[in-house]
Amino acid sequence: MEMFDYAVVGGGVGGVLASALLSKLGRSVILFESLSYLGGCAGTFKKDGFYYNAGATTITGLEEPMPLGKILSFLEVSPALKELPMSMQVLVMDKRINLWWDSERLLQELDSNFKGVANYKLLSELKSSSHRLWQTLWKFLPFSGYTSILGFFLRHPFEAIQQLLWYARGGQTFKSYIAGHQDYRLLLDYISLITSQGFLKEVSYAVALLGLSYPINKTYYSFGGMSNLIESIAKVIPTIYRKTTVFKVIKADGYFLLETSKGQFRAKRVILNTTIWNLEDLVEIDSVKEFSRKAKRVYSKAWSAITLYAKVKKERAKDLPSHILILEEEPLSVGGTKELFLSLSLPEDSTMSSQEYLSLTVSTHARPELWENITKEDYEMRKELIKEEILCKIYKKLPALKGAIQNAFVGTPKTFERYTKRYKGLVGGVPMVRKYFPFRYPLPFTTVDGLFLVGDTVFPGQGLLGVSVGVINLLLSIEKDFRKCWNYA
Ligand SMILES: Cc1cc2nc3c(=O)[nH]c(=O)nc-3n(C[C@H](O)[C@H](O)[C@H](O)COP(=O)(O)OP(=O)(O)OC[C@H]3O[C@@H](n4cnc5c(N)ncnc54)[C@H](O)[C@@H]3O)c2cc1C
Repeated sequence: MEMFDYAVVGGGVGGVLASALLSKLGRSVILFESLSYLGGCAGTFKKDGFYYNAGATTITGLEEPMPLGKILSFLEVSPALKELPMSMQVLVMDKRINLWWDSERLLQELDSNFKGVANYKLLSELKSSSHRLWQTLWKFLPFSGYTSILGFFLRHPFEAIQQLLWYARGGQTFKSYIAGHQDYRLLLDYISLITSQGFLKEVSYAVALLGLSYPINKTYYSFGGMSNLIESIAKVIPTIYRKTTVFKVIKADGYFLLETSKGQFRAKRVILNTTIWNLEDLVEIDSVKEFSRKAKRVYSKAWSAITLYAKVKKERAKDLPSHILILEEEPLSVGGTKELFLSLSLPEDSTMSSQEYLSLTVSTHARPELWENITKEDYEMRKELIKEEILCKIYKKLPALKGAIQNAFVGTPKTFERYTKRYKGLVGGVPMVRKYFPFRYPLPFTTVDGLFLVGDTVFPGQGLLGVSVGVINLLLSIEKDFRKCWNYA
């Protein structure tokens, strides 16, 4: 039986990036993915002949000082991406606000919508400070425990003290800018939620900086769906087993044995692209099972998602931007939060859009417990209810779409659990709330040498950007050769 240097379990963003970078480094890697397509929550699936993005739809972090662009050039891959003029359009109360990435346009937009707010100061603070933070997260650490923080302190004492103070302050600080504007508060709160999985009052000032800066960076669209981006990165990986589920990871003498739906495989090291909550069922090592049980107790507060997928008549959606965030004062009845995030495929994307239709993915946060222990009838009824409610809210804010949305179907926490295997369908990762982030946030190391983690439940967390920083941090910690190549790349 062949012995691989690395076996990677899971072909989400984390698993694919780790496998691609290690392959590029000359390591022998085998990647297992249980679905037929790569990408996981950032994947693209086909139903009734039409493609839909499963969850993630937006890409940022391709420019300095962000790492995703550097990864792509390091791997020498050029995915089919298009720069969008705005990150999203926000429909909040009676306002329609375009979040242009161009700072001057954005400032004009904010000034005309929110009079009397120091928007210039707010944007400048967001831009300069968030850039410094991102650099720390991926250039100066890796974050491999408290000793790495000590090292950062010794090398960059002033920067370290400044940033520690940012972690000590609350994210609510941002609300002081906008005191009287209920709509602006809602906007900032929900950008924080969709980027960091926590409202401003729950996150630190540092995390708020990272989250709120997301829409002011350039946003990109992936032609052919999000899976296409991940597939183009995966071309660097010689050995990929799709439709292959790993059932057990077992520690043997000097290597790991993986039991899969396609037989047994051996590897010297294993990288798991699964959540920390899933380890209990996957890894046959007592200390790792205990580690996972503890993670379930400690990180018990996490989100899932409800999604709606549909076809939209091209003609009726032609004036809409790719991404629209609808914010309502009243929360959704089966979900609990107030946002709907809509993403439309571009008309010129011949894979995702047809002659007549665009592909639509709508998402909102959901509490997974509301979908547990219910009968099949109840489950189907709730799905129907939430579908009607989501469509109703969309039609209210975007009347042009009335009658233009067809074949709508809903995804629930159970859907995410079934397809991505994520424990209880918890998506988005461990929330970056003050209770956890950064000092109690899970690291990419387990209790066992040679067994590591990537993905959105390990530092620094969420989204394609957070996950890619996590992968770089891990490889810098465990692969000397990577450190050499990467720093000079
Ligand atoms: C609705 C929604 C919208 C989002 N929007 C955005 C966005 O616009 N931009 C953004 O940057 N981020 C967004 N995110 C977050 C982003 O999608 C995730 O943080 C990221 O994709 C997580 O990647 P991951 O590598 O941690 O794991 P996952 O995506 O969970 O991938 C894990 C993979 O492992 C496979 N797997 C699991 N267990 C096994 C096993 N035992 N054997 C074999 N294979 C296995 C699964 O099938 C899956 O493909 C969104 C998330 C959701 C849910």
